[in-house]
Amino acid sequence: MHDVIIIGAGPAGLSTAFWCDELGLDTLVLEQAEEVGGQLHRLYNPINNYLGLKARNGAELLERFAADLDSAEFDLWTQTNITSVDLKAKRVSLASGEKLQSIAIVIATGVRPRELGVPGEKEFSGKGMIESGTRDRELFAGQDVCVVGGGDAAVENALLLAEVCPTVTLVHRGKKLRARPEFTQQLQSTHCITVFTESVLTRIMGDDHVEAVEIQRKQGLKPFQLAVRGVLIRIGVEPNTGLFREQLETDERGYVVVNSQQETSVPMVFAAGDISNPVAPTISSATGAGATAAKVIASRLSTK
Ligand SMILES: Cc1cc2nc3c(=O)[nH]c(=O)nc-3n(C[C@H](O)[C@H](O)[C@H](O)COP(=O)(O)OP(=O)(O)OC[C@H]3O[C@@H](n4cnc5c(N)ncnc54)[C@H](O)[C@@H]3O)c2cc1C
Repeated sequence: MHDVIIIGAGPAGLSTAFWCDELGLDTLVLEQAEEVGGQLHRLYNPINNYLGLKARNGAELLERFAADLDSAEFDLWTQTNITSVDLKAKRVSLASGEKLQSIAIVIATGVRPRELGVPGEKEFSGKGMIESGTRDRELFAGQDVCVVGGGDAAVENALLLAEVCPTVTLVHRGKKLRARPEFTQQLQSTHCITVFTESVLTRIMGDDHVEAVEIQRKQGLKPFQLAVRGVLIRIGVEPNTGLFREQLETDERGYVVVNSQQETSVPMVFAAGDISNPVAPTISSATGAGATAAKVIASRLSTK
């Protein structure tokens, strides 16, 4: 029996665990990945917006987090496959057959990139699918590429790739790009970028590596093929709520609804970080929400 089980070890889960430890709670963190850190592993840009410290990228920030967590005494299990969670009973079942019990649960499972769901997307992973403009652009220098999406992340990546690629084709299904004016203005003056709005990428093709994409411009028109060597998809994120979505209140997109104390609709079940923050997800808000959840849990347990 633990005081607290935290599901997910990104910035929110780690901060919750750090605070729970400070407050003397018996804490177990369950992480499905090999390593802790969550989205910090996909963050290749400099982090200049975390008050008090700067880092060259997510990996460096994670090193700093890890140094602070070195002396903490909470239990952390990585590569943990949770098969079911009974939120009301606070019972977590693992693929190993183990059943874990706690007084409180904190959901900190974050978000994952939304997939397009088109043929070729999974098959060409590592063979022409670009994960990040910052990280991969030298790999794709001198090659024609395609970017899918119309928000900040898509346009920013298109601009980064345009610095080294002869052509960048940006495909967006909406009528207008959603990216901030600073990016769209820059886009207009970047001549090697072609923008197709009201268009969808329907297929990624090639042999051993991406060689072309199929694009459908407007409903009803015949798709056409475009030769490219790289494809980057940035069409938003989805909350990781699969395990418990039916058991608590979520919004229409599946994000967990919480109050100002990070409480969910189930007593003694809390949520922190991106999983409960569709509006302004950041590392600061994730670590802050984790601190709030831990403090509220500690005060509830002290009055039991
Ligand atoms: C490219 C990029 C750039 C960014 N730049 C910035 C920036 O400059 N500044 C900033 O403040 N923020 C930035 N962010 C956002 C920031 O990374 C997130 O807001 C932050 O990581 C959220 O932390 P989290 O712990 O809520 O979720 P996550 O980081 O998503 O961590 C969730 C963890 O839960 C685990 N998990 C999920 N499901 C399960 C399960 N069923 N069982 C066990 N574990 C599970 C995951 O494996 C993961 O480790 C950026 C994000 C990206 C992708």
